[in-house]
Amino acid sequence: MGNVRRRFAWLLRPQLFVGFIVACLCIGALGNVYRSVHASPIVPTPKTDVKGAHTNLPSVDCQKVPCIALTFDDGPDPQVTPRVLDTLAAEHIKATFFVVGRNVAGKEDILRRMHREGHEIGNHSWDHADFTKLSPAQVDAELASTQSAISAAGVPAPRLFRPPYGAVNDMVKNHANMTIVRWDIDPEDWLSRDPVKINESLLAHARPGGIILMHDIYPSTADALTPAIDQLKTHYQFVTASQLMSLSAGDQGQFFGRR
Ligand SMILES: [Zn+2]
Repeated sequence: MGNVRRRFAWLLRPQLFVGFIVACLCIGALGNVYRSVHASPIVPTPKTDVKGAHTNLPSVDCQKVPCIALTFDDGPDPQVTPRVLDTLAAEHIKATFFVVGRNVAGKEDILRRMHREGHEIGNHSWDHADFTKLSPAQVDAELASTQSAISAAGVPAPRLFRPPYGAVNDMVKNHANMTIVRWDIDPEDWLSRDPVKINESLLAHARPGGIILMHDIYPSTADALTPAIDQLKTHYQFVTASQLMSLSAGDQGQFFGRR
């Protein structure tokens, strides 16, 4: 024991001991740099096709399994959207976010997080205009500028479009040249702002194949989400809009849900 004590006595000298600790930290840091350069990321980045849908989501046969799609409009919002994403991550649920182009600036990180965590992203216009009151050129501009804002944030351009207010006419359908996704379950989170009422309405109207309309801009929606999921998840498999409708790139038409 005496020999061992003498051999490590230098560790008790403050200068040598500090030098030893610094050397250990340097070796650890160099190891991290080496690993970050040479190693594969532990969590694989989801693969996407050219139009931006995730191709590595598990396939779900919504004709056999009772599926339901959560969709969130009007974000990204700096406070509410991260709360919604936290809840979805904790529950291992993938949803669809229809983003407003003018809201992307300054929230690119949130958009990238949506994509990185496997959610589907759709176009919800540039400034939430009623498209039926616009000229064809204005419709084109609203859609194109939103596609560009999303692409510029590093996220694949969407293939889904949700018209603000669900307002669609033949001109809008012809000019959108995207898959139009509407909804058939509206818990009116935009109206009541009451988590209990939102939850009650959601549960009363939920059905297999349904598309639920919610908004990731109201704190009350984020408050309602956890209890709503807790009750719905015993009956439904949550899927994205594309999974629900078995959509492929280039599909045209309007989809309100699966019947
Ligand atoms: Zn909207």
